[in-house]
Amino acid sequence: SGRWARAMAILREFEDKCGTPIGKLRQVADAMTVEMHAGLASEGGSKLKMLISYVDNLPTGDERGLFYALDLGGTNFRVLRVQLGGKEGRVAKQEFTEVSIPPNLMVGTSDELFDYIATELAKFVATEGEGFHLSPGRQRELGFTFSFPVKQSSINSGTLMTWTKGFSIADAVSPFYAAFVILLMISIGQDVVMELTKAMERKGLDMRVAALVNDTIGTLAGGRYFNNDVVAAVILGTGTNAAYVERAQAIPKWHGLVQSEEMVINMEWGNFRSSHLPITEYDQALDADSLNPGDHIFEKIISGMYLGDIVRRVLCRMAEEAAFFGDTVPAKLKIPFILRTPEMSAMHHDSSPDLKVVGNKLKDILGITNTSLKTRKVVVELCNIVAMRGARLGAAGIMGILKKIGRDTVKEGDKQKTVIAMDGGLFEHYSEFSKALESTLQELLGEEVSSRIVIEHANDGSGIGAALLAASHSQYN
Ligand code: ADP
Ligand code: MG
Repeated sequence: SGRWARAMAILREFEDKCGTPIGKLRQVADAMTVEMHAGLASEGGSKLKMLISYVDNLPTGDERGLFYALDLGGTNFRVLRVQLGGKEGRVAKQEFTEVSIPPNLMVGTSDELFDYIATELAKFVATEGEGFHLSPGRQRELGFTFSFPVKQSSINSGTLMTWTKGFSIADAVSPFYAAFVILLMISIGQDVVMELTKAMERKGLDMRVAALVNDTIGTLAGGRYFNNDVVAAVILGTGTNAAYVERAQAIPKWHGLVQSEEMVINMEWGNFRSSHLPITEYDQALDADSLNPGDHIFEKIISGMYLGDIVRRVLCRMAEEAAFFGDTVPAKLKIPFILRTPEMSAMHHDSSPDLKVVGNKLKDILGITNTSLKTRKVVVELCNIVAMRGARLGAAGIMGILKKIGRDTVKEGDKQKTVIAMDGGLFEHYSEFSKALESTLQELLGEEVSSRIVIEHANDGSGIGAALLAASHSQYN
């Protein structure tokens, strides 16, 4: 029928605009490399912030003693302790607890927030039991994971950067953006380590913040501890980011006393953009409606926060212009972010002959009943288009990093492995996405090089990574 043909025309046009042929991916990878150079050359030289992390000392495996970590990333925070036993003992013991931030605190002051965190931390320290030993005369030390862009001036100080325009209290009140509420409470320019330290003092907790890190850096450190060949980390979760080890000599903007040979760089790659990225009108609309229009374009086409909503937007157009779901447009289809990426992923992975999962999700989430098998197949196809574009672009981004550090080719006689530590719910749970990312990276690298490149799933490496960085940046080293 005419309707079906119109719906298919919308789908095909979208598919076409989302195309990521290998040549385009190479252009994206090259653009990533170029932007990395620009971001390292000067402050503000690129959309890629290429932040200096002051981590010049990744864990070696020799770390010993008791260390704590605090991970503040959203509505929950996690506290963790590890007992490290050097090369033989490794992680001898590990414990953690998760605490949610009460809603009333989310509209409070930053002092109130940090007092709450310090109190919960003190409670956790009080439960330190068998298997954990603080060396006599030592102060407890903590690695602080703070997953927002921070301008650091040392390993344990940093101020929140001017954050992306367009946020307001009203936006942030939506539970979906709860993570940003934390940010609203901390003013630009405030040193987050100082604030936490003062709160710990107020609460009588004798603990020193030894390292301030972002979750990507934590993942890199955790990955390196378990595998010496880890040189980069990528997070694919709600958002996306990457970090890698750079030669100090390759960082012109770093005017500090260059005493170390290497420096970990927090790319903030979610903010990457390039004219080579396949952007559709649906992406433009999503961006325009977002809290930070014009920013984080790469993140908006590849990360878990957005993939489901891109699918929803295309379905909505098909409903409006081709009556894809019947004479009326299902009202729920117009609600932003109603279709989340985990639901999209469940539909994409539906292997039942009648696509029962797809039928149920359409019914339960969007209120669309009695869908035909043919309709359900189109929905799966749409999920595939959106996921494949994201995964393939993610692989191109990684290729850009490998090029920057010269690991995209093999030199005669070189047996060196290159390992990328990966973390995040999207990569972990969306297997069609992660499979496509890995096979695309192989395609980009070619057989010989790709046998040397390994993607390793670092399950929650960032928590333990922060504790390890506290150890490698301890005042007692
Ligand atoms: P965060 O990135 O918020 O720190 P995670 O790394 O745990 O947290 O990632 C959570 C994100 O991963 C979710 O927001 C969602 O986008 C994505 N995700 C979680 N489960 C799935 C799933 N089954 N399929 C696809 N994506 C998922
Ligand atoms: Mg995370």
